Amino acid sequence: MPKEKVLLHICCGPCTLYPLKVLRREGFEVQGYFYNPNIHPYQEFRRRLRALEQVAESKDLPVIYEKEYGLRSFLKSTVFREDRRCETCYLMRLEKAVQKAKELGFGAFTTTLLYSRYQAHQLIKEIAEDLSFRYGVTFCYYDFRKGWEEGQEEARRLEIYRQAYCGCIFSEQERYDKKWRKRMKKEREVL
Ligand code: SF4
Repeated sequence: MPKEKVLLHICCGPCTLYPLKVLRREGFEVQGYFYNPNIHPYQEFRRRLRALEQVAESKDLPVIYEKEYGLRSFLKSTVFREDRRCETCYLMRLEKAVQKAKELGFGAFTTTLLYSRYQAHQLIKEIAEDLSFRYGVTFCYYDFRKGWEEGQEEARRLEIYRQAYCGCIFSEQERYDKKWRKRMKKEREVL
C-alpha cells in the first residue's frame, strides 16, 4: 500500500530532525516545504537555508524551497501590530503551507514549529486546525517538543548551524539588546 504523504512546513534545519523521525516512524512519506519570510537579516536567512540543505541531504529529504527573501512582505503584514506579530507570522507561513499541500494533492500537512519549546505551541495548533478546516487538508498534530533534547543532540552531532534567536528583526533585538529587555520588563511591571 502506498504511504500517505504529508507536507511538512519547515522553519529551519535543526527543528526538522526530530519531527522528520516521528513522521517517518508513523509511516508517512514526508515532503519538506521551506517558507519563512520572517527570517532576517538576509545573511541569516541564507545561513538557515543552507543548514536545511545540509539536513535534507543527510536525511534524503525532498524539500521545496521558497528562496525569496521576505523582509518586505513580512513587515507589511506586521506593521502596527508588532506586539501581536507572532500570530500573523504563524498564519502567514502555515497558510502558504496548507495551500501548497492542496496544490500538490497532499492529504495532510504539519509543521516543525510544533517542535520548538520557544514558540506559542497552542496558538500554532489552533491556527493550523482552523486552516485545516478551511482548506480541507488534514492537520497532523504532534507535540514534537517531547523530542527537544534528542533533536538538539542530533543537530550538534551533524554540526548543523543552530540559530540564537527566533527569526524576525524584532526577535533579534529581544535576544541581544539587554537595555531594551530591561526597559520592557519595567513597563510590564507598571501595567
Ligand atoms: S518572534 Fe518568531 S514567531 Fe514571532 S514574529 Fe518573530 S519570527 Fe515570527
